[in-house]
Amino acid sequence: MADTPVVTRFAPSPTGYLHIGGARTALFNWLYARGRGGRFLLRIEDTDRARSTPEATAAILHGMEWLGLDHDGPIVSQFERAERHAEVAQEMLARGHAYKCFATQDEIAAFREQARAEGRSTLFQSPWRDADPASHPDAPFVIRLKAPRTGETVIDDQVQGRVVIGNDQLDDMICLRSDGSPTYMLAVVVDDHDMGVTHVIRGDDHLNNAARQMQVYAAMGWDVPVFAHIPLIHGPDGKKLSKRHGALGVEEYRAMGYPAAAMRNYLARLGWSHGDDEVFSDEQALAWFDLDGIGKGAARFDFKKLDHISGQH
Ligand code: GLU
Repeated sequence: MADTPVVTRFAPSPTGYLHIGGARTALFNWLYARGRGGRFLLRIEDTDRARSTPEATAAILHGMEWLGLDHDGPIVSQFERAERHAEVAQEMLARGHAYKCFATQDEIAAFREQARAEGRSTLFQSPWRDADPASHPDAPFVIRLKAPRTGETVIDDQVQGRVVIGNDQLDDMICLRSDGSPTYMLAVVVDDHDMGVTHVIRGDDHLNNAARQMQVYAAMGWDVPVFAHIPLIHGPDGKKLSKRHGALGVEEYRAMGYPAAAMRNYLARLGWSHGDDEVFSDEQALAWFDLDGIGKGAARFDFKKLDHISGQH
């Protein structure tokens, strides 16, 4: 991939304000692309219609604008690409990498119950996986990916190292629901592929998803991007970051009067380090930022450092 221009993206779900963690993810992607003459794209993952709001999208854009994280090209709406996602599910079907599953919720529940009683894995194994299409009923169905049953899925993650997941841990995930809408897991892969994303830098709460997403890349014969799953942010006490540790919304820091440059500097230091340097300019961050400098341990959020950094900007 040495000659391929870097393309990163930030893909927030518009369900609330721009959180410190989201802002850090956006900044890392921005730094990685901008520091390499690459492109930084923005995709709003608004497939969850019940939870996505235009106000949240506006708040995220506002926060990014304040932080100076400009993106290239138009903002992509994931929801608006549903037809393309369905098209890919059909293509996987045509290639024999997916199948129509007519199992009802009751049948799946019964399968699980029996498996539990017999001490077997409760991962659903659909009887439709190898069924002859001639036997298909005229009934609602979902499209499931025909995942490998044996072997391993290996993710060579730039932060986490080599992550190996036994394929017997992954069931045949649903790609297209019975109403024809795509699942999140399918949509992400299709979008990243179509947008030409070369590096996926995101929170490590998505690491397990990466294993499933790799199955879609394999089924479509697409190049897998470089993955870098960054550890979540904890409070100074080592516990999961929450409101009691302080303000979590980027806008709140803006309102408190912190300069955007100090906030960028501070966010860059959340999980990434460059020697002993604490305070640096944007130019230095752009020149220095690399995936190698991202630690495996959770980053610690500490206001005192933000105040110290702000004093220097
Ligand atoms: N929309 C996801 C989130 O906000 C991000 C998915 C991704 O980066 O692949 O957590």
